[in-house]
Amino acid sequence: MKIEVGVATDIGQVREGNEDAYLVEPPLYAVADGMGGHRGGEVASQLALETIEELFRRGKGDLAEHVQQANRAVFQRSAADRRLNGMGTTLTAASIDGETAHLVHVGDSRAYLLRAGAMRQLTEDHTLVQRMIKAGEITAAEAEVHPHRNVLIRALGNEPEVRVDLDEVGLLSGDRLLLCSDGLTSMLTEDQVQAIAEAEPSPQAAADRLVRAANRAGGIDNITVLVLDARDSEAGDGDSTPAAVSGSATPFRRPSGRTIARWATAVVLVAALLVAGLSVLRSWLDGRWYVGESNGKVAVFQGVPATVLGYDLSTVHLETDLPADDVVALPSKLYAGLAEGLNADSREDAFAIVEQMQRDLQARDLAKAPAP
Ligand code: MG
Repeated sequence: MKIEVGVATDIGQVREGNEDAYLVEPPLYAVADGMGGHRGGEVASQLALETIEELFRRGKGDLAEHVQQANRAVFQRSAADRRLNGMGTTLTAASIDGETAHLVHVGDSRAYLLRAGAMRQLTEDHTLVQRMIKAGEITAAEAEVHPHRNVLIRALGNEPEVRVDLDEVGLLSGDRLLLCSDGLTSMLTEDQVQAIAEAEPSPQAAADRLVRAANRAGGIDNITVLVLDARDSEAGDGDSTPAAVSGSATPFRRPSGRTIARWATAVVLVAALLVAGLSVLRSWLDGRWYVGESNGKVAVFQGVPATVLGYDLSTVHLETDLPADDVVALPSKLYAGLAEGLNADSREDAFAIVEQMQRDLQARDLAKAPAP
């Protein structure tokens, strides 16, 4: 089977950096969506893809083993570098072997198959809400608006071992595979994704249009889309290249706007203080949330964890009864950055982080309890 590729990635409308990464290294294709404070998300997604690419090129072991090694690489780097503690990444990859697509998947990026006017999700999200749907606790419609819909229960880099979903799909000529980060699927319904994907014969045009549509719908997250079109080898004119994206030496692409954005933020902060006065700053800060430490307890803060000219840029919104030291000492190291503040996208997101901490503490206590 011949594969024609389209790929697009974008920072979105809200985020300061693009923590998504993709890999186009025929016959291997992947999307990774990183997470973690400071530069953690970018490092995690890129490191995972670099590891997989390297192993794949050397041809040792199978794809599932490569994912384990990528997991270990991210886990070890996260443990070795204080600033990267707690970073992680999703990974959804397809390797095409003849008529078969081998899929590996961890997290909430997704693979879809478009065939003969129908679109089918090939992967299952490893999220809290997906688990609740399966347990019959909420409906799929409720999950779409659930405040904790972004909480992952599986990702690369959080534990020394990771469970990897494996799947195989037989490809037919005319099939279109979609690999995407949740920045696409959280902004567009599946019907919208399908309509756009089917309207564009060219895979590159389809990828571009999907990203544009997600941006128009709000673009609250980084958006990455890979479109893989399968065609019978005989069907084409024979000499078109397999990858629309040139087999360049730089299969990774990522806007490096984060550092600049951080400086810009600092400049904007000071300017807002001096020029527009405190009220402008206040309303900006009111939209910012993080989880930090107050009186030795985990607390939800509104604002940013900083002071400018002696002016405290955050206030305690809620002080929980979770002991901060216990949370920081969790073996996952997920919350090692608590003292500096763990960024949240929203108030709901901050509460989701706190709830996850609570569950993690419970899990730790369960593990410690003597067997009955
Ligand atoms: Mg994302």
